[in-house]
Amino acid sequence: MHRRDALRAVTALSLGAAAGCDAARPSAVPATASSTAERSPNTHPTPTTSSAGPILPDEVRHGPRDRPQVALTFHGQGDARIVTALLDELKRGGARVTVLAVGTWLAANADLGRRLLADGHELGNHTQHHADIKTMKPQLAYAEISACAEAVRAVAGSIGRWFRPSQTQYATPTIKSAARRAGYPTCLSYDVDPRDFTDPGPSAIVSATLAAARPGSIVSLHCGHEGTVAAIAPILTGLRARNLRPVTASDLFA
Ligand SMILES: [Zn+2]
Repeated sequence: MHRRDALRAVTALSLGAAAGCDAARPSAVPATASSTAERSPNTHPTPTTSSAGPILPDEVRHGPRDRPQVALTFHGQGDARIVTALLDELKRGGARVTVLAVGTWLAANADLGRRLLADGHELGNHTQHHADIKTMKPQLAYAEISACAEAVRAVAGSIGRWFRPSQTQYATPTIKSAARRAGYPTCLSYDVDPRDFTDPGPSAIVSATLAAARPGSIVSLHCGHEGTVAAIAPILTGLRARNLRPVTASDLFA
């Protein structure tokens, strides 16, 4: 059973690489999952403390709305040349971001992982293979998260603060439980999705991001797409023109 699931997860790797974090979201996220997640901040019985910030619920979709900050978060996987160009753009723009790395990608691109940490960015967990974690049995979901945690630890020295589930915007109770067991009390969702993984062109990515960004927003972007690289400078300019400071997820919740 587990072997077959694992095989399916590996088979889905190519799909995950081509698709966005939540490519199947409109049809595949059941209403029950969404409504459960909506209630979770109030119904979770024992929110976990974090040494890096205040007590957070088991999933966050945006940060505090009373501070002029926006977190830029990235699906961490992609061609090394494009990811390098992305890091160059972020450095040029003076922005620090959160990269949720796919474990297999990070293991194969440890030098890029080390560079993004050296540039002041934050490294988190986006599962080992970026398969559809919603459909996994609890043990396989845990294996996907814990394997990526070890990949992050190998590069960063710790597993990082944040976990983002693969191929779903919102975590299910099973995903949240597996994440908590692997050392991630809070799943990192988002409220701004310019769907850059569909390669709509830089101007569409910029306008969708700026139209939706509010104080406290968490933006979902993707490494490995040329259009995203080209969108970085105008996104940073546009956010700052609205007095919105681009920050890491941890800074958003600090
Ligand atoms: Zn993703």
